[in-house]
Amino acid sequence: MADRVDVAIIGGGIVGLATAHLLLEARPDISVTVLEKEPELAAHQSGHNSGVIHAGLYYAPGSLKATLCREGKAKLERFAGEHGIPFRHPGKLVIALSDSERPRLEALCERATANGVEGLEILGPERMRELEPHAAGVQALWSPKTGIIDFRTVALAYAVSGANPLVGSDLILAVAAALAIPALLFLPSIPFGSGAFGIGDVKLLVGIGLLVGGSRALGSVVFALAVSGVVLILLLAARRIGRRTYVPFGPFFIIGALWVVLLRG
Ligand SMILES: Cc1cc2nc3c(=O)[nH]c(=O)nc-3n(C[C@H](O)[C@H](O)[C@H](O)COP(=O)(O)OP(=O)(O)OC[C@H]3O[C@@H](n4cnc5c(N)ncnc54)[C@H](O)[C@@H]3O)c2cc1C
Repeated sequence: MADRVDVAIIGGGIVGLATAHLLLEARPDISVTVLEKEPELAAHQSGHNSGVIHAGLYYAPGSLKATLCREGKAKLERFAGEHGIPFRHPGKLVIALSDSERPRLEALCERATANGVEGLEILGPERMRELEPHAAGVQALWSPKTGIIDFRTVALAYAVSGANPLVGSDLILAVAAALAIPALLFLPSIPFGSGAFGIGDVKLLVGIGLLVGGSRALGSVVFALAVSGVVLILLLAARRIGRRTYVPFGPFFIIGALWVVLLRG
């Protein structure tokens, strides 16, 4: 572990790991360490819960809990899709066991509808038993979009994606930047015949992106361009090169990559 970190998070359950994941997504330049007292992550509640992706039936409409539940479900399912984590929507039945419980069930349906929960239906006993043969009651609220997922797998994916920039959209950004930047920079160099960007530079930039992630790779390119700009101006001013002299940019990208890896961590 590093001697010094920018942020330390205590507890490697899903809350700590999700916090670390989002922090690193927002600020890839900082170092974050999660401190866990157990020998493995998600060893407590997060690894032993019921695995339900709640649709947001119960919370007061307009409340922060209702909003976070709805937004959290969408984000969780998107994250799971991007990282190949299996999840399903087997749905959920909330059952009124007797006539006296019907008004509460109907009030729950109104509340869930106000929360924007999709596909809700009030079911009679027959349809209820078709969906779940072991269910018994007089009426049910059916929430088809309630899901299930293994939260331990989710927590471990947060841990890996925080430490490794080679997953998700960062990789796409890295490759896109590696292809687009040399192509764009090649254009202004045409009139001067200098500043050649070759396929080697593209490969180098892809490599940097794979190692450090897209946003850091962009940082290293900006740094490399600044250094190369200063060096070129100095060389031109000293008349050591002319406007049409061939200048390879690869070494500057290597300096940028070293800067981002060694100094920014
Ligand atoms: C029975 C049950 C069923 C549930 N079912 C669902 C469900 O279906 N769907 C749902 O969304 N939510 C469900 N929940 C809620 C959900 O599991 C919790 O909200 C969530 O797991 C909390 O995550 P956490 O990271 O805060 O806690 P934890 O997963 O408990 O993680 C806390 C971590 O901190 C570590 N720690 C504690 N003290 C220290 C210390 N001093 N130093 C270092 N490390 C420390 C612990 O070892 C632990 O790993 C359920 C909860 C329970 C109890």
